[in-house]
Amino acid sequence: MGKGVRVSERFAEGDLVGVLTTEPLGRPLDYKAPAGGCTAGDLVEVPLGPRRVLGCVWGKGEGNFDIHRVRPVTRVLDAAPLRDEMRTFLQRAADYTLTPLPQMLRLATRAPDLGAGPATRRVLRATGREPARETEARLRVMDALDTFGGAWVTAGELAAEAGVSTAVIKGLVKAGVLAEEDAPRDLPYPRLNPNLPSKDLSDGQAEAAAALAAAVATGDYGTTLLKGVTGSGKTEVYLEAVAECLRQGRQALVLLPEIALTAGFLDRVEARFGAKPAEWHSGVTSTERRRLWRMIGVGEAQLVVGARSALFLPFRELGLIVVDEEHDTSYKQEEGVLYNARDMAVLRASICGAQVVLASATPALETWVNADSGKYRRLDLTARFGAAELPEMRAIDMRAEKLASNRWISETLARQVEARIAAGEQALLFLNRRGYAPVTICRACGHQVGCTECDARMVEHRFLKRLVCHQCGATRPVPEACPACSVEGKMAAVGPGVERLAEEVAERFPGARVSVLSSDLFGTARALKEAIETIAAGGADIIIGTQIVAKGHNFPLLTLVGVIDADLGLQGSDLRAAERTFQLMRQVAGRAGRADKPGVALLQTHQPEHPVIRAILTGNEEDFWRAEAAERRMAGAPPYGRMAGIVLSHPDVAVVFDFAGELARRDGPLRAIGAQIYGPAPAPIARVRGRHRVRLLVKAERGTPFQAALAEWAGQLKLPANLRLAIDIDPQSFL
Ligand SMILES: [Zn+2]
Ligand SMILES: [Zn+2]
Repeated sequence: MGKGVRVSERFAEGDLVGVLTTEPLGRPLDYKAPAGGCTAGDLVEVPLGPRRVLGCVWGKGEGNFDIHRVRPVTRVLDAAPLRDEMRTFLQRAADYTLTPLPQMLRLATRAPDLGAGPATRRVLRATGREPARETEARLRVMDALDTFGGAWVTAGELAAEAGVSTAVIKGLVKAGVLAEEDAPRDLPYPRLNPNLPSKDLSDGQAEAAAALAAAVATGDYGTTLLKGVTGSGKTEVYLEAVAECLRQGRQALVLLPEIALTAGFLDRVEARFGAKPAEWHSGVTSTERRRLWRMIGVGEAQLVVGARSALFLPFRELGLIVVDEEHDTSYKQEEGVLYNARDMAVLRASICGAQVVLASATPALETWVNADSGKYRRLDLTARFGAAELPEMRAIDMRAEKLASNRWISETLARQVEARIAAGEQALLFLNRRGYAPVTICRACGHQVGCTECDARMVEHRFLKRLVCHQCGATRPVPEACPACSVEGKMAAVGPGVERLAEEVAERFPGARVSVLSSDLFGTARALKEAIETIAAGGADIIIGTQIVAKGHNFPLLTLVGVIDADLGLQGSDLRAAERTFQLMRQVAGRAGRADKPGVALLQTHQPEHPVIRAILTGNEEDFWRAEAAERRMAGAPPYGRMAGIVLSHPDVAVVFDFAGELARRDGPLRAIGAQIYGPAPAPIARVRGRHRVRLLVKAERGTPFQAALAEWAGQLKLPANLRLAIDIDPQSFL
């Protein structure tokens, strides 16, 4: 065992223990230790009223309850205990995010049947025989089996994935296409070999890899920003840190922002270490989740690749956490427990003596500031791997371009696209707007079609032949007649989405092969992955994409990126708008010229002199971050000050405004720490799913007991029935 491993407190039969359950009761409850005793961290089953529920032995009992009425723990589960380090992490994460502790325990025990011991289960595998009679349902089953990539799968899981009844599965077993066998429930993962040869690294990569490995070898906590331009080979570098971690006999976790990226990543891990790692994300079956949860606790899974919730797995000995594309907004959990996985990774690592690697070409401003101040170490990978160079970036001044109405591609950009097609290369047209048109307006009365449940305009999706609310997902057909004035045939699409851009491209470049990459056009992560592979192999001349193209896909033939509307992210008063636009534009531009051909990125803009656009074009990143940091410091905004967003919602607009107003007036606990409160104001989206949303913003200086003051302040009033209150510490958007 490495550093920091302490022996957990042991309790003899009959001793009072405090057990935290996943029920919403707040504090641990007293129970008596069962026959054979128990240890702090043990997962147990305890009686709660007439039920039996899952719990964790949190420590000594309080003893403030009539001893004769204290009931014994029913049994200790056959699972690795949650270690002291893990319980400390849950407690501190709960304190930081103002989340009730039972909810944190629920996050940490999200695997089925944790109470059941090792056993076997019936699983299915393909025999290789083709079905004699191919029905659509049967084909779907075979397709689904493929999705699991050889992992064991039960009949129920397979039926659910394929969307068929279990009768179809039984039919395939009978026909000899599938075979049933008994498999142990929880099998250790194949061992990874860190001593297989690594890929050839450039001098810069080798140097960075050595620095990371040395940090891992210390066995102490530390965070490193691994900053490298797109294509500089960050993955190869941090895989060497993983290798060192495995050599130390500790476990590693790699967080990825997008499930669609995991498949390619798993192949790279296999190439480096000789076997695939364990996976944890929403696409993994519940059987696999249980297996992973149990194996991680006994050290039989060395490397986990997963989504943000993998941070709450009960690692036996975590030595390294990599947060890839650490600036990505998907690391912020926006529902339920509100947390930022990047910050929680740093918290967890600091408790268990692990290293954190934050990898990005365009780090979050917070990360940049922490590196600048010396709180984080910083390693820079400057050269792109191999011959690839950063693309040249230029603005197209749209004020000087003559565009016909309902046309979005300038003549300058179009000529460049034509040149690429002629040269057998690819062009990407980027527009961060899903659907056909963002607004549907009545030409007779000016009415804009909105969602009936939300304060949001409905977006036309011609592909679906419907209007869609991007807030709540409600859909309806495009109306023939105006819902307001009933005039027929006057409804018109205004503004471009990717689907409409695709129409223009088809007219403007007849004969070109066009591929549209937008998350809503693909039913499954696998379909998206296939489309990406087809493009990478040269199966398209023009790619039209939303922000999903910015996320680390490799298109070797791509040499031109055209940003249709570089001004899109600059509007609005969100404090992060500049940072987001900068990151997104740099990431998208980074798609061009990744192999041996140099790339060009062209930004269509109406404000080429805007500081953000100029920073993007000059590539003067450090100047941009410094200027942004100075503005945040002036505003007392994160990371220089503390902020919390409070969103209150209720079906009745008066109820929610009254309550928010009352809360704002009772600001004593906040004033006591010098904090200021802003609002109430309607939230950026003032109504979602029929609930009116009101927002308060609290700002405080750093170094004040911020969470404690917030908890005291919000706890003063009893919530009216059906009123929801959510506190978001370090909100992503400051509106
Ligand atoms: Zn109308
Ligand atoms: Zn809606």
